[in-house]
Amino acid sequence: AKKVSKSDYEFYSIELDQAAELRIAQEAAIVSGVKENEFIPYYQPVVNAQSYSLEKLEMLARWHHKGVLQSPDSFINIAEEANLIEKVSNQLLNQAFSDFSGWIKKMPTLILSVNISVLQLVEPKFVKAFTTFLKEYSIPPNNIEIEITESSLVSNIEAMKQTLFEVQQCGIKVAIDDFGTGYSSLSYLKYLNFDTIKVDQKFVAELTQGRTKGELAIVIVNMAKSLHVNCVAEGVETAEQATKLAQAGCQQLQGYYFSRPKSAQDIDPIIKVDQSI
Ligand code: C2E
Ligand code: CA
Ligand code: CA
Ligand code: CA
Repeated sequence: AKKVSKSDYEFYSIELDQAAELRIAQEAAIVSGVKENEFIPYYQPVVNAQSYSLEKLEMLARWHHKGVLQSPDSFINIAEEANLIEKVSNQLLNQAFSDFSGWIKKMPTLILSVNISVLQLVEPKFVKAFTTFLKEYSIPPNNIEIEITESSLVSNIEAMKQTLFEVQQCGIKVAIDDFGTGYSSLSYLKYLNFDTIKVDQKFVAELTQGRTKGELAIVIVNMAKSLHVNCVAEGVETAEQATKLAQAGCQQLQGYYFSRPKSAQDIDPIIKVDQSI
């Protein structure tokens, strides 16, 4: 084995200390962020693939921290690991449900899609707490969809089936997010009975990269069709991608081609009876 000199050891130990210190500081910043109401929901439109009319909004977390809007990739994992995800999520959902309760008055068929961490979902009290929350804002469960990332589904499939069953019994829809990036088999997909499959944006990007890799996005769209599951393609950035996906029978599209995620204030004017955006 390689002999570790004292100076090597000290070097590594300082690095570890720094990593630990950074982590502690990040956790403390999240705690104070919750206290100061720094977590705010953004919304990205999901449109009908044929008419391009607005059908759904996906709520995406933003953190107004140090004068900038931080993206969820910089804090969701840390919040999960530090057991703070429920606090962060509750703050976001409070604001989102308040915004959304106003929007469904104008557009009663609009769906709000929310990303929920598996850590929250497996809490025994999750379903009760979530539905109580909806009632407080007078939001019908049918107007809500929960998105779960495929890669987080691996552990405890039995418990997951039970929770998803309870959620769907209440009328809430369930989507499998980032589909194609995890390891679910087809039988697994059938077993868990999702309402929606979200094709990961990497497959959508490949549609127009001119490779001869086979069009996996189209394969997934067809699979969703044969399972009679609603299909959303995300990360749609070009007209060509939108057309290919619509022609394949994908029902809904989401991506910068239609709209970036926006603040509640900027979403407000697109919520109208004439739904085209
Ligand atoms: P996601 O659920 O897969 O969300 C889609 C991400 O792709 C969003 O990034 C969105 O801004 C981005 N996006 C949308 N359209 C396009 C496009 O056309 N091109 C490209 N290049 N990107 C596009 P964002 O907002 O940074 O969110 C990242 C991830 O953070 C989300 O991925 C989701 O897994 C997670 N997340 C967001 N909000 C929450 C939350 O409230 N709770 C939990 N647990 N996770 C969240
Ligand atoms: Ca999502
Ligand atoms: Ca996704
Ligand atoms: Ca993602």
